[in-house]
Amino acid sequence: MMTSDHIALQDSVRRLIAREIEPHVEEWEAAEIFPAHEVFKKLGAAGLLGVNKPVEYGGMGLDYSYEIAFCEAIGGISSGGVGMAIAVQTDMATPALTHFGSDELRQQFLKPTVAGDMVVCLGVSESGAGSDVASLKTTARKDGDDYVINGSKMWITNATQADWMCLLANTSEGDVHRNKSLICVPLRENGRLRPGISMQKIRKVGMWASDTAQVFFDDVRVPQRYRIGEEGKGFTYQMRQFQEERLSGATRRVTALDKVIDDTIEYTRQRQAFGRSILDNQSVHFRLAELRTEVELLRSLIYRAAQVHMGGGDMTQLASMAKLKAGRLCREVTDSCLQYWGGMGFTWDNSVSRAWRDLRLISIGGGADEIMLTIICKHMGTLPRRAD
Ligand SMILES: Cc1cc2nc3c(=O)[nH]c(=O)nc-3n(C[C@H](O)[C@H](O)[C@H](O)COP(=O)(O)OP(=O)(O)OC[C@H]3O[C@@H](n4cnc5c(N)ncnc54)[C@H](O)[C@@H]3O)c2cc1C
Repeated sequence: MMTSDHIALQDSVRRLIAREIEPHVEEWEAAEIFPAHEVFKKLGAAGLLGVNKPVEYGGMGLDYSYEIAFCEAIGGISSGGVGMAIAVQTDMATPALTHFGSDELRQQFLKPTVAGDMVVCLGVSESGAGSDVASLKTTARKDGDDYVINGSKMWITNATQADWMCLLANTSEGDVHRNKSLICVPLRENGRLRPGISMQKIRKVGMWASDTAQVFFDDVRVPQRYRIGEEGKGFTYQMRQFQEERLSGATRRVTALDKVIDDTIEYTRQRQAFGRSILDNQSVHFRLAELRTEVELLRSLIYRAAQVHMGGGDMTQLASMAKLKAGRLCREVTDSCLQYWGGMGFTWDNSVSRAWRDLRLISIGGGADEIMLTIICKHMGTLPRRAD
């Protein structure tokens, strides 16, 4: 799937990362936030926030394989939190707007987001509804030409800096799969939170450079024309949007895992015990070879899912498998590698312990492993039938 054009794109992303991101990573990790507007403006100016977005909204208009190439490149950032924040902008909060939004809405929200002038976040999860998205309680009630939003969203990446949120809310009563809509909700005016919106920042085990918050809505008005696509189709749109989020998540982890293995080869090669390097033990270099093979298999699965998506097919099963496998591998690779770093692996200041903390998230965020298994079982026809 990767041609010389994909490699050239990745090279330019890596150069930008080396110049504009890596020199600041330690500072941002310690501060538990990074300057999203500043960083996104640089990525946007290089066209990198819209690799597969339409040209009329400032994107490069390339096919999805180039977005996968982009995700591989940002997976190499030594702070998982920065890569995740970028992916919210490109693969988590904007696919539905790109596919289903009106031209007016895309001009107003997508174009500045692709340019890096606006930061976006995705508001799906709630404190009482994470895995069970359909049970969310936030409402957007019609009043004149507006929606009036009440409720709260939990675990929102980029929230403390975002200009707008792609919000999933109940816009009517009734069937929980047909009563929801996705809405573009401006969060700030002149740099300040709009009336009725408040936030509480959340501290985390990993992904430190990425800010995460709970967001509260109290009678927040937005025009109904800010709704993405048809009313009542929000759950369906979000399920589709999740596929690009999940494949992006798996893709970034392939590069991150390769880096953990590379760093471990380097560390164990120079570290001596019993008169030879740790790497010279067959149990160690064989294990690293096993892990690298697993990562390559994951990469192949991702490319296959991307090809199905590009061909107009439904990649749900393959993307769910890739996300599941990425979650499992992130735990396996980082745990095995950390072991070979000995006591050093159990300290803060090295790449393997950061990866161990950061990469743990993928088995939980964007749909836990068990939700991926449920989706795969649905496709296999092996889920028990529900009484209702
Ligand atoms: C750092 C971080 C960033 C995030 N960013 C965002 C964001 O930007 N926007 C957003 O909307 N959300 C975001 N999330 C939320 C994330 O998607 C949810 O945490 C995730 O979907 C799991 O929901 P939950 O935490 O409520 O877990 P719960 O739903 O409480 O589930 C807990 C656990 O129960 C198990 N489980 C659940 N259901 C089943 C089942 N049917 N069968 C078997 N086991 C099951 C799983 O092991 C699961 O991990 C983020 C989360 C984190 C931690």
